[in-house]
Amino acid sequence: MTRTALVLGAGMIGVSCALALQKRGITVTLIDRREPGRETSYGNAGVLAASSIVPLNNPALYGKIAGYLGNRHPALNLSWRRALTQPGWLLRFLWEARPSQARARIAALQSLTADTVTHHRALMEQAGVLHRLRDTGTLKLWRTQAGHDAARAEHDFLKSHGIDSQILDRQGISGIEPGLNPIFPAGLLIPCVGSVDSPGAVTAAYAALFAERGGRIEQAAVTRLSRAAAGWRAETSTGGSEAEIAVVALGPWSGDLLKPLGIDPWLNVERGYHRHLAPQAGARLSRTIYDVDGAYYMAPMEQGIRITSGVDLSLRDAPDVHRQIDAATAAAREALPLGEVIGETWRGARPTLPDSLPMIGEAPRHPGLWLAFGNQHIGFSTGPITGEIIAAMVCGEKPPIDPAPFRPGRYIR
Ligand SMILES: Cc1cc2nc3c(=O)[nH]c(=O)nc-3n(C[C@H](O)[C@H](O)[C@H](O)COP(=O)(O)OP(=O)(O)OC[C@H]3O[C@@H](n4cnc5c(N)ncnc54)[C@H](O)[C@@H]3O)c2cc1C
Repeated sequence: MTRTALVLGAGMIGVSCALALQKRGITVTLIDRREPGRETSYGNAGVLAASSIVPLNNPALYGKIAGYLGNRHPALNLSWRRALTQPGWLLRFLWEARPSQARARIAALQSLTADTVTHHRALMEQAGVLHRLRDTGTLKLWRTQAGHDAARAEHDFLKSHGIDSQILDRQGISGIEPGLNPIFPAGLLIPCVGSVDSPGAVTAAYAALFAERGGRIEQAAVTRLSRAAAGWRAETSTGGSEAEIAVVALGPWSGDLLKPLGIDPWLNVERGYHRHLAPQAGARLSRTIYDVDGAYYMAPMEQGIRITSGVDLSLRDAPDVHRQIDAATAAAREALPLGEVIGETWRGARPTLPDSLPMIGEAPRHPGLWLAFGNQHIGFSTGPITGEIIAAMVCGEKPPIDPAPFRPGRYIR
């Protein structure tokens, strides 16, 4: 039986793994170079994405590629430097979008996302941050009449997967979001989707709960991971720690410590940005909205109205490219009366595997080394279930959902 664990990375995934292992009586050390929840799990749109069941690279992507070329569309920015240095990953990402893969990946994503609000509600209650949860659904909006057909198609698709939604016209949209300017003729309200007003604060509160229950949090950079007598050793900027097992939950940085062990997980990133704006008087928003034509989320947050951008396929550490967040800011100003920009523009990186599914399980050929990363656009939502799957497998229990679609062996040989 496992008694000790190192969890590397205190984003939503690592913190959730730490809590789930601790619940099973394992002594856990959680290590992060920053305070918990200060990276990707800080800057996201805070959506608890119970209806995000279609992988980003689905068969419809093939028809959109031409429109994305030339980097004029707000949904996507492709750096030619990345395309030239990482052509294999991009081709694999496109290959995984083929129709024969769609049904199984939709089922896998639905199993991961279905209970996200229930899981977070329970943790928020235990962590004393339930006031941060909004139960008002999410609203998808279209700017043209063609949006009526798109809303209908999405409504029917979601219904066929047991997810309720409500088609709205301009008047219906104004009825539930009177602060929005009437520029959207069509909308789709998806009530089962939740959201929070500060994903960073929620992640930090879960980490505080872990510490309150006796868990150890170490703030240090992990510089190397290696096998040790006890199991696994993490060398850190302040020394080192050993335990029987190690869980790598380093989000977009997970590959950095695995490659020296001869493990290439095929992990890459989709960068994204956010900006906060002050709402002008009367500009209230009571849920997250997604402007389909503008390709941005707008979310009411503790800091102001947060606008998050589409996907920037630049190299992970390349300088910022603000084209998309600038376009999103301008589009958001058309939708809601917004005042000045608050603070700096934030950049993060969604950790992504070519099939848009996370990697959750034990690394092939490396007993005791567990992998929990690649949660892409839904990692804030799917942290708790990822933690439960990892902890159940570590302890030899039946996981809450079938872990097969997420097995590391699909990319790691
Ligand atoms: C713009 C944007 C919007 C998004 N919107 C949503 C949304 O609305 N809903 C949703 O569910 N998801 C959303 N996501 C995705 C979600 O934010 C991520 O999937 C999730 O935060 C990933 O969590 P993580 O714990 O894997 O990574 P992280 O939160 O990045 O955590 C990894 C941790 O590892 C630490 N670390 C890295 N290297 C080292 C090292 N060497 N030593 C020590 N520590 C290290 C980092 O400091 C960090 O704290 C969005 C992402 C972006 C970029």
